[in-house]
Parts: sequence; C-alpha cells; structure tokens
Amino acid sequence: MCNYEANIWSEPTEPETLDINTAAVAGSITIGIGFAQLEELCAAMSIPCMSDKTYVKFRENVINDFEKTAMENMKVAGKVEKQLALERKESVNDIPYITVVADGSWMKRSYGNAYDSLSGVGAIIGYRTKKVLFIGIRNKFCTICDIAERNGIKPRDHKCYKNFDRNASSTSMESDAIAEGFKCSLKMHGIIYRTVIADGDISVYQTIVDSKPYREQMVTVKKIECTNHLLRNLCKKLRAVAETTQQKMYRKRGFVQLRNVVKTNILKIRKEVIKAIDLRKEEKQPDHYKAMELQKDILNIPSHIFGEHKGCKKRGRICDHDETKKNYVPFLKLHGLYQKVESAIVYLSGYSDSLLLKFTNNPAESFNSIICKEIGGKRINFGNRGSYNARIAGAVVQYNTQQVLTQVHKSICNNVPPIVDTLEKRR
Ligand SMILES: [Zn+2]
Ligand SMILES: [Zn+2]
Repeated sequence: MCNYEANIWSEPTEPETLDINTAAVAGSITIGIGFAQLEELCAAMSIPCMSDKTYVKFRENVINDFEKTAMENMKVAGKVEKQLALERKESVNDIPYITVVADGSWMKRSYGNAYDSLSGVGAIIGYRTKKVLFIGIRNKFCTICDIAERNGIKPRDHKCYKNFDRNASSTSMESDAIAEGFKCSLKMHGIIYRTVIADGDISVYQTIVDSKPYREQMVTVKKIECTNHLLRNLCKKLRAVAETTQQKMYRKRGFVQLRNVVKTNILKIRKEVIKAIDLRKEEKQPDHYKAMELQKDILNIPSHIFGEHKGCKKRGRICDHDETKKNYVPFLKLHGLYQKVESAIVYLSGYSDSLLLKFTNNPAESFNSIICKEIGGKRINFGNRGSYNARIAGAVVQYNTQQVLTQVHKSICNNVPPIVDTLEKRR
C-alpha cells in the first residue's frame, strides 16, 4: 500500500560470523563430499541448496583460505622443530638440522595401478613433532586449458592449477614435489632437512640428492630406511621361503615338514630382531660400534631360532639348552631352506645402522589416511578446479591440529561456532 521496500537477511550479517555458503563449502571439503552430495543432504533436510555455479564460486575463495591456514600451520610446526633442534645443538654453521619423513605414495594407493594419476602430492613431515612441514601438489591437468586446447583457442585468463607435464610419470610427480620441499626448507623454515626416512623407494631419495638442496652449506642429505618397511620386507622373504616348492620326484623326505618349521618361526624371527635392536639401543657405546654388534646379533638369529646355539654365548645370550628341542639347522640346510633364510637375514643385517635408530615412516602413513578421507577415497572429478588442492590443504590442517574446521573458522572470521568447537574437542 505504501510501497515500502526492505531487505531482510536469513542469517546474521556480522562480519565475525562465517556466511552459510562459505561454511557449507568448507564443510563439504573437510568431510570429503562434493556439490552433488551436499545438494542431496540439504534436500533430505528440506533445505534449499545453493546452485552449482555458486558452489564453485565460493570454493575458489575457500581454497585460498585453506591454503593460507595450511601455510600458517606448517610455519608454526617448523618453528617448533627448529627450537627442538637448537636445544639439542644440532646445527651446521648455526643452521639447525632435523630428520624428516618424506612420502607421496598415497596416490597409487587410492587410485590403484590402472589409473594414471592426474594429481600427485609429496609431503614432508618433521620427525620430532610429527607435523607436516611442507606439501607440494602436482597437477597434470586443467579443465580450462584442456577445453581451450581441444577447440584450438587461447585459454581465457584463469588461475591455472596445472604445473606438471602431462606425459611425465606419476611417480616423478611426488619425487619432484618432495625435492622442491628440500630446496625451500631454508627459506620457509630456516632449517636443513639433513636426514630423510625412506620407505625403500629409491627414486625419491635419488631426486633429492640430485637436486643438491644444501650445496652451499656442503650438506648431503642422508637416508635412513624405515624399520617397519625393513621388517615387513624380511617377513615377506621368509614367507616366500616357507612357500618354496619342489617337484615331487626330486623332493627329499621331510621337505614339507621343514617348510612348516620355517613358517611357524617367521614371527619369532621378527620378534627376535626387534629384541636385538632394543638391547643394543640401550647400550652406552658409540653408534658405529653398536651397529656392528647389532649386525652380528642379527646374523646369529636364524641358527638360534632353529635350535643351534653355537654362536649364542658370544652374542651375550644365555640359551637354555633344551635337549628335547630339536636342532633343525642341519636338516634345513640339507633341503636348501636354511641358506634362503640366511640370505634374507644377511640383507637385513646390512641395515643395522638404520635399524638401530628404529625410525619409521608411520607419520606419513597416518597423514595418508586423512588425505584419503578428504578426497572421499575416490577419484576426484578433475572438472572441480582446485578442489584437490583445497582438500590436501585441509588434510594438512587436520593432521597438524586435529581441528580443521576450528582453524578455518578462526582464520576466515576469528569466530568459532560453539557447535564446531565442542565437536572437534570431543574427538
Ligand atoms: Zn589452466
Ligand atoms: Zn641361542
């Protein structure tokens, strides 16, 4: 009647409250769902959802916030690592150095071998703090560039996420990303990644060494093998011994029983190795001496386990000579099984210096599982530009703080909703 017009808001407009659309997009990223699932969830609750165009627009903004939060988080983690190294006087020319875990193998895991990954990620995690210090993302594909190329036109101005050659191998993506992390460690954190814990994949370490990240400081990056991987590898080899087959006509009597003797002792051998490591670890001796002794301890393990204790006394152990317990060694030798066990043990003993440190790349594996959640355990729709980058950044924040939503709210608008706070503290 009076032509009065007014706007009303369906939600508070205070700048300290995160707007509903940004919040919905941020949540969908941390949960590992996309627009389609968000729309369905809203429909189930009879809430009208934003359009997919709006979703993409909001996501572009949120990506920057996620990346900023992740970067701030990694900087904080770097400071802590630096402080811990300084306290222990671990430095070269006053530059503190640390040990890190480097890994990027999750892409293979989540995509299977058949799929040639279009995106890859390399992460560097500080060993003392178990926090992510660096994350490098490689994308071989960009929708906008791809469409333009197929239509033979110049792509419009856009934020391009493609930063890797389409034809390069997927494993080279992670090596390249990790090497970049080493190269920028001084600039980013003021620390040297002096030692890296590897999972047996030689190519990552080789790329790091070849890129000579600390040439000026005259530091060569050292490698330590992950103890878990070494032990897993040993068990795998021993299982193969226990599954050795022989043609029936050449098979000597007792072969099958002896194969079972090997099989039932695999875990015992593994335990024995761990025990030997722990015993040497405690000794107050120089490291190289302990490593040498540990090597001999490990070499003696097969004969001890299979009932021959000739070398045990020399290795400082008192074996109860149980006369009823059979000495299988000569029989195993007769069938060629003992030699195979020995060769697996010889290989392992060569890593006694790594074993003594008992470092594992477990931190990388738990980081992987968070990434798996955020990318929803399935293939990313690569039409979702930058979605992968945001999800990886989200995983970094989640891994470093266990409170990704709290951190994102804090960094965007300084205000954490009580409901988010309670939820993330409860976990
Ligand atoms: Zn592009
Ligand atoms: Zn013994």
